[in-house]
Amino acid sequence: MKILLIILACIAALVLLLVVRALLVKDTAEKPEDYTKPEIDLDAAVKKAQGAIRIPTISMRDESIPDKPFYDLQAYLETTFPLFHEKAHKRVIDKYALMYTIEGSDKSLKPAMYMGHQDVVPPQEEGWKHPPFSAEIADGCIWGRGSFDMKSQLISIFEATEMHLRQGKQLKRTMYFCFGHDEEFAGEGAQAMCRVLQAEGVEFEFIFDEGMNLVDASLIGMKGPLALVGVCEKGWVNAKISAKGNAGHAAMPPKETTAVSLAKAVVKLNKHQMKAHFTPAVNMLIKSVCPKASFPFKVLMANADLLRPLMKPILLRISPAVAAMLRTTMAFTVLHGSDAANVMPDESYAIVNCRVNLGESVADVKTHMQKVLGSKYEVELLEKGQHEPTSMSDLDSFGWRMMQKTVAEVFPGGVTAPFPFVAGTDSKFYDSLTRCTFKFSPHITDAKYRAGMHNVNEYFKVSDVESDIQFYYRFMQNSCF
Ligand SMILES: [Zn+2]
Repeated sequence: MKILLIILACIAALVLLLVVRALLVKDTAEKPEDYTKPEIDLDAAVKKAQGAIRIPTISMRDESIPDKPFYDLQAYLETTFPLFHEKAHKRVIDKYALMYTIEGSDKSLKPAMYMGHQDVVPPQEEGWKHPPFSAEIADGCIWGRGSFDMKSQLISIFEATEMHLRQGKQLKRTMYFCFGHDEEFAGEGAQAMCRVLQAEGVEFEFIFDEGMNLVDASLIGMKGPLALVGVCEKGWVNAKISAKGNAGHAAMPPKETTAVSLAKAVVKLNKHQMKAHFTPAVNMLIKSVCPKASFPFKVLMANADLLRPLMKPILLRISPAVAAMLRTTMAFTVLHGSDAANVMPDESYAIVNCRVNLGESVADVKTHMQKVLGSKYEVELLEKGQHEPTSMSDLDSFGWRMMQKTVAEVFPGGVTAPFPFVAGTDSKFYDSLTRCTFKFSPHITDAKYRAGMHNVNEYFKVSDVESDIQFYYRFMQNSCF
């Protein structure tokens, strides 16, 4: 009886501790000002976005893809945004990548970069409700390849800047605008621009690229939308796992062919994934959401440091997207054995696409795989496209405070949280040029809406053209004018 009482007292003390820690949580986010959004000529802006979507700038994977659309897009931008082009110094890098600079009056301020990409992935041949480059409007949406990713957003950056310029405002902070032409493929345009900027010794206060969106977070008791701003990007590497043996006639197979051996390796690796971690980005995400969450979630989040061992297995099972935030992922995408049905191959191999978590390296992936598989298998890291995880953006910075402020001003009740971005963007190539990169596309989405990206029937809500322009306009005002 006495032991039971002691156990109950311990549990009560623990619960009390967790509750007290939740009650002590303070909201330190930058506060918004009273802000009235400017009037926007949405019809005109949507027409400009439609015009850009109609130019089929398909990412150039090889010589067979025409480059004319990129020249057409450059000409289109010049005629559509005459004031922007009058005020900006334009450079075309590596034939197609666009870099603009508008000088600010205060040279003591580090410049800002707004960036994105001109290219789109090739459209699927079948299944479009509206032709992929028609940019038709139906059901309140613009339909077409690139409408979501990211022609509408690209046009919004130009439109917001031109609105400021039309008002005759003097820019304080120099602004750069960098738009690559092959983000969906190799990012060579961005890398070429980065080399130019490195040679010129430019260091940016912040870099604002495409990325994650605002989402509904009412499930955890939040009243406004939650802006998930990418503050880092995972590394990327393809690993080739080979099982070797003797080639031979398929009529007399040994007990374990290279194909069987490879299958065992795949199953073993899939079972023994790399360890999940609460990276600094995940910890800061929890810390940012905590003050606005309903009390039960607040108690959980305020005590995330203590409850980590309990939370980790639950989070890993919630969804692949949540699991990807916590650990290096391994996707077995290519399996190759023999080219002929009656020939046993002397080598069978798998290609594993790995997205490397922050705090780990590409080399760690190889070490892990070799440790799990042993010396019987060969593990090789393929060079192409390989890169380490980026650094994490500085959240104690001017740029981050302006991000919090702008989100709350443009989306009333909106809360900003850092987000470990698990997909790829061009801004990873600019990592050495700034301490602050924000990967953020400022409109409210859900999983179904985002699933249109790179898919048939990609669409973008007309109302989100307004959302993007309003956000860029205010963010530029808060940070550059
Ligand atoms: Zn994109």
